[in-house]
Amino acid sequence: MKLLHSGKVRDVYLDGDDLVLVASDRLSIYDVVLPTPIPDKGRVLTQLSLWWFDRLADIVPHHVVSGTDVPAEFAGRAVRCRRLEMLPVECIARGYLAGLGLEEYRKQGTVSGVPLPGGLVEGSKLPEPIFTPTTKAAVGEHDEFMTFDDVVAAVGAETAARLRELTLAVYTRGAETAATSGIIVADTKLEFGVDEGGAIVLADEVLTPDSSRFWPADSWEPGRPQYAFDKQFVREWSQTLDWDRTPPGPEVPADVVAATRARYVEAYERITGRDL
Ligand code: ATP
Ligand code: MG
Repeated sequence: MKLLHSGKVRDVYLDGDDLVLVASDRLSIYDVVLPTPIPDKGRVLTQLSLWWFDRLADIVPHHVVSGTDVPAEFAGRAVRCRRLEMLPVECIARGYLAGLGLEEYRKQGTVSGVPLPGGLVEGSKLPEPIFTPTTKAAVGEHDEFMTFDDVVAAVGAETAARLRELTLAVYTRGAETAATSGIIVADTKLEFGVDEGGAIVLADEVLTPDSSRFWPADSWEPGRPQYAFDKQFVREWSQTLDWDRTPPGPEVPADVVAATRARYVEAYERITGRDL
């Protein structure tokens, strides 16, 4: 297999006409990969994505060819998939206000050009889920919000409308499903590609702790940061350091690694009802 691309978290190989997406145990915060791996994180991301792709297939076709036909050294954390022409938009849906969405709302009352009511606070539930796409930034740069018109300019009106519709449908299904396990999906990021026949296909990873904010419903309380099943914990730990958020990232101590691993595993086990 030929290594095509090594992202912050995943490595992408070409194998014949297929791609093999391999999730590592690497963790990045503020777009910087930390030197300390989180054991089993790659397996959690991969197995959770596979579980969701299956459960979303009636909404949108997906890129998975096989979750098992992968080289033995990557077993459990790799997906064989169809190689698509990726669309240059990070398709984000938000049902709650957090992260960059919150920052943008505080500055100008909108996110990706979508106006929101006044008086919302950190963690507030939005009146309805919204589509808040961003650019797909090149290495070393940060993603930026796109308005719906920006998406139309990038991919055409018909595809833009379809991306918004699919993103909101996947988010809604994901949020409803996770809610039955007591988990709030505050937001999620999807990537779509186009196949040889011109169909829009769901690609990349889906509804994982790296691409979404998962919060336990029983401790959700607007007006403060929420407990999250993801790297939020590492981000908060990093804020206690004298680190300027540029490479190299700091070594993560063992207790922070163990707590972070436990959150990834708990998200997987609660959502799927399976043991990792
Ligand atoms: P990061 O996500 O850390 O910002 P990245 O997006 O460059 O970095 P990864 O997410 O680790 O890197 O790598 C996955 C890459 O594979 C992405 O560029 C994604 O768009 C691409 N990809 C995912 N699925 C497919 C597919 N079916 N066909 C073609 N490319 C795909
Ligand atoms: Mg990516």
